[in-house]
Amino acid sequence: MKIVMLGAPGAGKGTQAKMIAAKYGIPHISTGDIFRANLKEGTELGMKAKEYMDKGLLVPDSLTLELIMDRFKNDDCANGYVLDGFPRTIPQAEALTEALKANNDDLDYAIDVDVPDENIVRRMSGRRACLSCGATYHIVYNAPKTEGKCDACGSELVQREDDKPETVLNRLSVYHAQTQPLIDYYKGFDKLKSVDGTQDMNKVFEDIVKILEN
Ligand code: ADP
Ligand code: AMP
Repeated sequence: MKIVMLGAPGAGKGTQAKMIAAKYGIPHISTGDIFRANLKEGTELGMKAKEYMDKGLLVPDSLTLELIMDRFKNDDCANGYVLDGFPRTIPQAEALTEALKANNDDLDYAIDVDVPDENIVRRMSGRRACLSCGATYHIVYNAPKTEGKCDACGSELVQREDDKPETVLNRLSVYHAQTQPLIDYYKGFDKLKSVDGTQDMNKVFEDIVKILEN
């Protein structure tokens, strides 16, 4: 199963992608997580990506594509994957379509998690992330058992630098300009499915499972 998650930053792509990955035994691949892991390790890629991420801008396509094409070579991708945060531009989507086509392969679905802008700032200002294991929480909607500590690994939870309100507004306008056009791109290939992302996260997941098991 090969799935792309679409939606604004903070719509719940990562939350749903993790649930899909666990249920169907496929890897959850988040380009944002890979950039953050590189940043934490101080790699050259991480340093380059940081310049863009901190401003709420997209990392250039060339850098992102190099990274994701390399990730697809891992054995764990043999049975598919759920992509979260990639593709984010039309050239990235075209490169993915071409790479799949070269292997006589195709995506199953692009799932748009639809959440209006008004809800996004609240979601992102309450998001807390574990930089050790990648788990994500929300201080109101999905609070950890112990405040400030990751349920899964016990590490300290942090607010992402790019989840501060000034950067969130930038990221939203970048989303509308560069990523939202992917909705029509995938509609054109008859791959697009939409779910109402304002619902409780378990209900959103139920709707996604219905699409995948239809
Ligand atoms: P994205 O990967 O699209 O940027 P996340 O999955 O990290 O978004 O979700 C953003 C924030 O909103 C997180 O703090 C998450 O816990 C919370 N969240 C995700 N889905 C829902 C939902 N359906 N209702 C309320 N909060 C949610
Ligand atoms: P995310 O974790 O998906 O919210 O991504 C965090 C940041 O990483 C984004 O705001 C971008 O700066 C960068 N990023 C993640 N994925 C991509 C991508 N596919 N293309 C360009 N930049 C990306």
